[in-house]
Amino acid sequence: MCPTIVPLMRETKKENVVYFTSLLENMKILVATEKPFARKAVEGIRGIVEGAGYELALLEKYTDKAQLLEAVADVDALIVRSDKVTREVIDAAKNLKIVVRAGAGYDNVDLAAATERGIVVMNTPGQNSNAVAELAVAMMIFMARNRFTPGTGTEIQGKTLGIHAYGNVGRLVGRKGKALGMEVVAYDPFITDPAVFEADGVRQVASVEELYRASDYLSLHIPATEQTRGSIGYDLMMSMPAGATLVNTARKEVIDEEGLRRALTERADLKYATDIAAGIQPELDEQFGKRVFATAKKMGAETAEANINAGLAAASQIVDFFKTGNTRFQVNK
Ligand code: NAD
Repeated sequence: MCPTIVPLMRETKKENVVYFTSLLENMKILVATEKPFARKAVEGIRGIVEGAGYELALLEKYTDKAQLLEAVADVDALIVRSDKVTREVIDAAKNLKIVVRAGAGYDNVDLAAATERGIVVMNTPGQNSNAVAELAVAMMIFMARNRFTPGTGTEIQGKTLGIHAYGNVGRLVGRKGKALGMEVVAYDPFITDPAVFEADGVRQVASVEELYRASDYLSLHIPATEQTRGSIGYDLMMSMPAGATLVNTARKEVIDEEGLRRALTERADLKYATDIAAGIQPELDEQFGKRVFATAKKMGAETAEANINAGLAAASQIVDFFKTGNTRFQVNK
């Protein structure tokens, strides 16, 4: 439970109507990005922040943690991408009230440390989902066609696509899979309403084992949590149909890498493509050659559109929080 900082409101009455105005003025908002936003996104963020009467500070392409520790010292709000907001960063940010991770996964923010200080942590769900979904589909086709090298490939049409976690990205991958003529099955224990799956013409399966058993292509979209860390490994991969491909645009932490290596060793028909290189990626590349693929750097959300959407959403959410106390996207409630 987070003892959230709620913006203090000034109450005024005019012609019997009560108005509330935030007392949080002169807020300083820092955008700290090792991997900067696109210029257009930064301009948009500036427009939103300065338009609200607040100050924008930028720390881009920093190379040393000390730079981040110094930059956060006097800020009230922080926007990050994959940047690590550790306890040390939070301790150094004495005025910090809100951190927004421009993106979906927020495992780069120390939620416990933020919560202890009453700092609100938000993400910007859905803003980069299409970019990630397009990459997942692209990786399926890439692997089906021998990584665009000579030789006879296969088609994805008519194959079964399994979606592990039917959230913002998973749903888009499911719909794109349907549009490409795939059978789509999905598993998400936290979605209890079957209508969510039915609306997309997707068959909901009852267990993770059933999902992997059915999937020629398995697209992974679970968040990295205590429960999911290292949960995808040998047994699930070994249960997949002949010639199956596991596509991971989620997180490397959800993979049991030794289990993955063992399954790829024992089954020469299995393939693995990931947007988040495994800790043992060089060894996997060496041992399995074209059967494994990792993007050079995580690039699922790296489109101009996703950049702009997530950056602007982060800025708007901070302004809204300061002005009205809106905590809709808070993840440490
Ligand atoms: P989301 O929050 O919209 O959806 C996550 C889904 O996972 C939810 O539907 C939830 O019910 C489900 N879920 C949670 N725990 C589960 C479990 N144990 N088993 C099955 N389902 C479970 O998130 P999203 O926007 O769809 O993103 C999914 C993940 O993709 C993120 O957590 C993030 O780690 C990753 N991601 C990667 C990139 C990239 O650049 N490659 C970009 C965005 C997101």
